[in-house]
Amino acid sequence: MNTLTITNPATGASIANVPRDDAASVAAKVSQARTAQPAWQAVSLAERKGCIERFRSFVVRDLESLAHTLTHETGKPVKQSRNELNGLLGRIDFFLGAVDTSTNTVTVFNEGGMCEQIEQVPLGVVANISAWNYPWFVGGNVFVPALLTGNAVLYKPSEFATMTGLAIARLLHEAGIPENVFVPLVGTGDVGEALTGERIDGLFFTGSYATGASIARAVGPRMIKLQLELGGKDPTYVCLDANVKNAALSLADGAMYNAGQSCCSVERIYVHESIHDEFLQHFVEEVKTFKVGDPMSEDTYIGAMTRAAQLDVLDAQAKDATAKGATLHVGGHRLPGPGNWYTPTVFSNVDHTMELMREESFGPIIGIQKVKSDEEAVALMNDTRYGLTAGVFTPDEARARSVLSRVNAGSVYWNCCDRVSPRLPWSGYGDSGIGLTLSTYGVQTFCRPKAWHLRSA
Ligand code: NDP
Repeated sequence: MNTLTITNPATGASIANVPRDDAASVAAKVSQARTAQPAWQAVSLAERKGCIERFRSFVVRDLESLAHTLTHETGKPVKQSRNELNGLLGRIDFFLGAVDTSTNTVTVFNEGGMCEQIEQVPLGVVANISAWNYPWFVGGNVFVPALLTGNAVLYKPSEFATMTGLAIARLLHEAGIPENVFVPLVGTGDVGEALTGERIDGLFFTGSYATGASIARAVGPRMIKLQLELGGKDPTYVCLDANVKNAALSLADGAMYNAGQSCCSVERIYVHESIHDEFLQHFVEEVKTFKVGDPMSEDTYIGAMTRAAQLDVLDAQAKDATAKGATLHVGGHRLPGPGNWYTPTVFSNVDHTMELMREESFGPIIGIQKVKSDEEAVALMNDTRYGLTAGVFTPDEARARSVLSRVNAGSVYWNCCDRVSPRLPWSGYGDSGIGLTLSTYGVQTFCRPKAWHLRSA
């Protein structure tokens, strides 16, 4: 049988072999989902919510073993795996609370025998092609509201989060979602590509710009709903009046949490010249306290890198920055295997000629650049093809609002960073993608608004 081997990135050991899909099985599963979807749409919303409530309770019941599975296949520290699962619960609660009001039919006009209504109709069969870095979060942002609103979901987890993807399917099925309504597809990029070519009504993708762009080219002429949540090069500016130590500690965490493998990791830091040296000192001291090691240890803060290939990207960025005159304060190299390891790395004296300040690093590496003014910081923050998040540290709200209103980013942060809320839309400017998840808009995005013109006489 054709199988996919799952490897533990912290040890290099094979931990499972699972049967994988191919183009024929993908086509068959899409067709079965299409057959099953109308009955799921006909199920009452209360019943669909009941399934998701049971799913939530099973996540709570199995939380420890699910956290271990996630850690074994991604190298994420087990504490951070638990954080992800606990964070998912709040997102589920938000969707359960928001789905009724977000999908009610609304009467927008009713006069002289003419009634106008907007009905939210499920898209039908949707593809959810997902990333490995937060599979419960980025998957759940799609499959929970998609299922609640009556869609069938073909779920392609990243090959690096396959066991978690299969666990999600098992718990959803145990909770009462029919097997042909939530369908996991196992495999590598070719399985995602096969799914992209199938007759689907919507495609919701989380991943890199390169893959997102190739999907956009493939589905463009087919006029289906397409959402792409892509990468970022998220900047933060520390103003001259900021609480320097607090900003340094918060940003060190924002840059290094999950080994920097978050779409909204802090990827670039600009600091006003008057506090730059003090900030750098606190930042480097904090990073030196981060324990790198066995992701199953409770005191590990930085685990293994999930994908071996990313180590080359980090090496290349460090080499390029060094060659162009950056100053290395800590790290800057791999750690010996087995497994994929990189030391937390901090550079200063960086500028925008360096890849480190231009392209997504997606690892525990950061550049800190000195600036002379708020205006210079805004110009540098906007000097990017991405626009996912951006932040400012200052006690002055007016100043923060003035800076952030000029920055092109889907989410902006005042005195915080690396944060996602289910109540707020998650979206990006530029090459960070199109469409959104989360918030009430992130429920409606799985529906088509159907316009009813009703004349009673
Ligand atoms: P990839 O683009 O490598 O993969 C994403 C998904 O697409 C995986 O399931 C992958 O399968 C699949 N895939 C690969 N090739 C194709 C193809 N040709 N057609 C269809 N599907 C395909 O991204 P990563 O998984 O490495 O995720 C990291 C990226 O995701 C980063 O850039 C990060 O910033 C971004 N991201 C964005 C978020 C956001 O909210 N904006 C949130 C989280 C991550 P396989 O893995 O099996 O190859």
